[in-house]
This record gives sequence, C-alpha cells and structure tokens, in this order.
Amino acid sequence: MTKYSIEPAPQISLPIRGSDERFPVRRIYCIGRNYAAHVIEMGGDPDREEPFFFQKNAQNADTSGEFPYPAQSNDVHYEMEMVVALKSGGANIPVDEALSHVFGYGLGLDMTRRDLQAAAKETRRPWEPGKAFERSAPMSELTVASGTGSPDSGKISLRVNGEVRQDGDLSHMIWKVPEMIAYLSRFYDIAAGDLIMSGTPSGVGPVQKGDVLEGSIDGLGTLIVKVV
Ligand code: MN
Repeated sequence: MTKYSIEPAPQISLPIRGSDERFPVRRIYCIGRNYAAHVIEMGGDPDREEPFFFQKNAQNADTSGEFPYPAQSNDVHYEMEMVVALKSGGANIPVDEALSHVFGYGLGLDMTRRDLQAAAKETRRPWEPGKAFERSAPMSELTVASGTGSPDSGKISLRVNGEVRQDGDLSHMIWKVPEMIAYLSRFYDIAAGDLIMSGTPSGVGPVQKGDVLEGSIDGLGTLIVKVV
C-alpha cells in the first residue's frame, strides 16, 4: 500500500448512460480545425493538412451543468463537439483497428478564452491559457459505443438561449474518429480513460453570464450548461 505525503487528487469521471458505473478520465486530447466551415471562419485553409491536437487536463472536465465565467478573459467562446472515450489504447494503432478501442461517445464543450488563445497564436506561445483552464470542458454522460452504431454521420448542434448557433453534421469532420485515434497513437501512448474532443462545426461565438447552452448530437442526447 503506497503511503502518500499529501492526499492524492480525486479521480475525475463521467457518468455512463444506463449504468451506475462511471468512466474514469485519464487525458483529454482535442483536435483543432476539424470541420471545413469552422476552419474558414477561423481564417484558415480548409485543405486537408496534417491534423493538430492540443490537450486539456482531466481536471477541466465538468458535469455540473454550470460553467463559471472564467478569470482573465472578456471573450469566452463555446465550441460544441463530440467526445470519444477510449477503453484501451496503445501506440501506432492502424486506422482499421482504431474503433475497437472506443468505449463510447458523449457531448462536450471546448470552452475557449478566445482572447488568450489569439494572444498565444500572435506571440507563438502555448495554448493552455486559452484552452486548459478550470471547468473548460463541460461534458455529458457517455453512451456506450455498441448502442450508438457508427459515429460517421448525424446532426451536431448548439443552441444558445434557444437560438441555433451551430448546426453541423458529424459527416463533415475532416479527420474521422478512427483516423484521429490512429494519428494520436503515433505520437502518444493513448490508453483507457483517454477522451478525444473531435472538433467543432462553424458558428462559434461568445458567451455571457446567464446564457444557457444546449448541445445536441443525434443518438447521444443533449448537454445543457448554464454560464454563471
Ligand atoms: Mn475545439
């Protein structure tokens, strides 16, 4: 039995639909610019270039249904995304084996301090202040993969105070779920408990205190988050 000098941090976990078990979160990988229309709105070139990923911390995942407006920003954006949860992993996973590592899928918001992200891009500094801050990854319960079928298509949308702001389709992802898993596994030992946030469709925008964000993905339910 290991004796710790201080109390270890609690294990972060997500609820699982129809189960009293929870999914223990290890790492959170996030792909940038994975829907062509969003690439264009961010000033990029939608031609298929190599994907890139950044990370949030497991401790940034939050299932409370509330998003406290964070410090040090006046321009916090929502990005509605599908979350892929892994039950196993490895290195150099072939694309055609990648889906066998998927535990399930859920909904997530890649909340972004856009002003700090823009400053980081400008100064060629890391993105963490813009992306990996407290409660920056509101998430839903997970739906076990066998129950959802293929994640290749289906509507993904976000309403803010009842008004549709993002309205895309999973089929518009530039890098598909198996490709993202295979790519990540070339750079990292991905493992059970890892989450992948799979990118956002176009229509990102700022939030204000009091806003209610309602994300929806066909077959995976909804994620309702209030900005407080
Ligand atoms: Mn994102």
